[in-house]
Amino acid sequence: MNPVNTIPATLIPGDGIGPEIVDATLAALDALGAPFAWDTQVAGLGGVKAAGDPLPAATLESIRRTRLALKGPLETPSGGGYRSSNVRLREEFQLYANVRPARTLIPGGRFDDIDLLVVRENLEGLYIGHEHYVPIGNDPHAVGMATGINTREGCRRILKYAFDTAVATGRKKVTLVHKANIMKVLTGLFLETGQQLYAEHYQGKFELDAVIVDACAMKLVLNPWQFDMLVTTNLFGDILSDLVAGLVGGLGMAPGANIGTDAAIFEAVHGSAPDIAGKGIANPIAIMLAAALMLEHVKRPELAQRLRTAIDQTLNIDKVRTGDLGGSANTAAFTNALVARI
Ligand code: NAD
Repeated sequence: MNPVNTIPATLIPGDGIGPEIVDATLAALDALGAPFAWDTQVAGLGGVKAAGDPLPAATLESIRRTRLALKGPLETPSGGGYRSSNVRLREEFQLYANVRPARTLIPGGRFDDIDLLVVRENLEGLYIGHEHYVPIGNDPHAVGMATGINTREGCRRILKYAFDTAVATGRKKVTLVHKANIMKVLTGLFLETGQQLYAEHYQGKFELDAVIVDACAMKLVLNPWQFDMLVTTNLFGDILSDLVAGLVGGLGMAPGANIGTDAAIFEAVHGSAPDIAGKGIANPIAIMLAAALMLEHVKRPELAQRLRTAIDQTLNIDKVRTGDLGGSANTAAFTNALVARI
């Protein structure tokens, strides 16, 4: 590897199928000659086992230094146990933008030729966790309350990121998704800020429109091709990005990028799949596509494109597919076929 070209990056193999799909991804990146110099660290259950902490200080220090990470899925115990390491990473590095591209990978399904980008605000809104119960009489949980907070600065930051991305990647239309007819303050601020920012700096660079979130969900299912890029607040983005992943074959093939001022962390959208962990049958495509986003982030789009083309050829010309896609290949067989295509 050319040392001038070497980009320090943190690698977190993660839990469950994480190490299997991360190994497959490293094989693909090696074949491409990708410029990353990895610093391998633990988190999640792996962090608890190795260092007694789901997010050890050494892992945080590594990301603080490299500002760049590829992360396998991390297990979070439901109810009780430790707080999600994913949420802690978001807060720690102010990863304010969650970017989820969805592209049709296997043609011939219900939704061909989908190429949609969802940008979700990742730190504000109804997900800030200001929740409490109000007791009435002898019912301690008589009333549930949650407070959502959006700030103009937070809205402007995510909208600017989305608009700049639209310009840089040649998107024709950006749709603001909101519920300003009912939540006039919380999501009205987002809508107003988006329209203002567009009028001030982006007019003519792409088309801007706005749609109410419920109508957006229906339109996505009826005719997803009418959209190009969606930008929205935290809760709506969480829901719509899974809907959009469903249009192109589910979470098994969906990558995500978490972008912040202090770092960028790339991951598969799916979890650690404990039901198939250790069997060597996991589909590594989602995290490979996350690695492609990471290559674009470090300004190596030609390597990202080669990786995506190799995935496409392996799936559609060689017809080598893992079990979740109806094929019979295990992770190693898929990876070998893919590497042969690079
Ligand atoms: P999951 O995504 O791990 O699994 C859901 C189903 O999809 C399972 O049947 C699984 O076998 C299958 N699946 C997922 N990825 C696959 C792949 N690459 N190839 C083939 N099949 C695949 O969701 P879950 O079971 O709800 O969560 C398991 C654990 O993962 C939990 O501890 C959860 O907290 C964690 N999780 C982590 C992240 C993350 O780190 N970003 C995201 C979601 C869930």
